[in-house]
Amino acid sequence: MSSAAVEAARRVVSGLREACATPATRLADVAAALAGEMEAGLAVEGGSRVKMIVSYVDSLPDGGEEGSFYALDLGGTNFRVLRVRLAGKEARVAERVAREVPIPPRLMSGGDATSERLFGFVASALAEFVADEGHDADGERQRELGFTFSFPVRQTSIASGTLIRWTKAFSVDDAVGEDVVAALQTAMSKHNLHMRMSALINDTVGTLAAGSYYDDDVVAAVILGTGTNAAYVESADAIAKLEPSQLPKSSNIMVINTEWGGFDSPCLPTTEYDRALDKESLNPGEQTYEKLISGLYLGEIVRRVLLKISSRCSLLGDVGGGTELRTRFVLTTPDVSSMHHDETPDLTVVAKTLADRLNIRGTSLETRRMVVEICDIVATRSARLAAAGIVGILRKIGRGGPGDERRSVVAVDGGLFEHYAKFRRRMESTLEEMLGEEAAARVVVKLASDGSGLGAALVAAAHSQS
Ligand code: BGC
Ligand code: MG
Repeated sequence: MSSAAVEAARRVVSGLREACATPATRLADVAAALAGEMEAGLAVEGGSRVKMIVSYVDSLPDGGEEGSFYALDLGGTNFRVLRVRLAGKEARVAERVAREVPIPPRLMSGGDATSERLFGFVASALAEFVADEGHDADGERQRELGFTFSFPVRQTSIASGTLIRWTKAFSVDDAVGEDVVAALQTAMSKHNLHMRMSALINDTVGTLAAGSYYDDDVVAAVILGTGTNAAYVESADAIAKLEPSQLPKSSNIMVINTEWGGFDSPCLPTTEYDRALDKESLNPGEQTYEKLISGLYLGEIVRRVLLKISSRCSLLGDVGGGTELRTRFVLTTPDVSSMHHDETPDLTVVAKTLADRLNIRGTSLETRRMVVEICDIVATRSARLAAAGIVGILRKIGRGGPGDERRSVVAVDGGLFEHYAKFRRRMESTLEEMLGEEAAARVVVKLASDGSGLGAALVAAAHSQS
């Protein structure tokens, strides 16, 4: 291998490392800037890119909930339908039946993707699920349904809201501005389903509810999956923009869906790869923080870095020569994770991933090490920025500071956190670095897998009419 080629590749990697750097001072700036945006978003509607959406959830489950509830969970690449039977404080979730259905990509974006088709698909899956359950589980009682819809929605009540815009891999133009519950109900009416939609919630809100169901000290919930976002419990007095209709009924709290994915600030470390990715995305100029952190994008960032290297030197073969390096989104975050965790002496997992995904063969061990390094840089930036976000929220609610003796639990869901061990470790160690060892010991980050579906059922139970 020519040393000039190695040199050229090294320069790309060191440039990346520099642009992605997240020293402590920068992370402190990120946390402070996010807390500031949260404040601005609470002051007036539209006051910040961090939307701070009022969820209308003003009480959290206490375990006493009872009855059978259905839930729909739409937001990533799979869509889930579930039924849970809640059996009160002792037995809790007595039964849970779930089905996962992949969403056909043509319904998510592109010319065929219309609101009618997407919600029609959701309603059919729900109808099939209910039919397959056979017996009428609840006799003649009308079934109650919670809907987790993981996009920015302007809530108009606990069970209605209009879509502000799509994020992640969804772009269904005619649904923007639409009442998502009405759209789904129209689709459901074609299936003669006797169901009442009792709650429309974001996945972060569902995760917060599910987390609180098992642990009273949950103060916030974070999703680190295809997308990223956070919700937390705010005191109603701190929400200047609250309208009379939004005032909590029987408490002084309100769950806020921050939509932190929309956060943008000059203190975020961005690179030429991020800017190009953003420009070519379905939502240019939006979701800046999300594009630096979440699972939909990490693989794509790494691919762009590799493409740059291959345009500079021959280490990754010839871009014109049959590699897939030019194909967007061929490299996924699970690919990045498995390369990053490759512990074989010859980095055979890296070799196999490069071959299978990118049709790149015959790389040297040194080149494969460089690929691992790139994964490390990109995943570390993501994990550290996510930790800074959590610290921003804790600061906003006066938690986790020196002298705060309370236990503060953050419920986390999403594949990036659940399945990418090095990501999770880096995020946790960054929290400790930022909060200090003593305070960090009282901040518990807890996996709440599948929280969002259960959460929808719990919120539906709280707002049930039977
Ligand atoms: C959406 C949020 C959602 C998050 C995680 C983001 O793209 O805007 O509403 O909570 O993804 O699913
Ligand atoms: Mg989800």
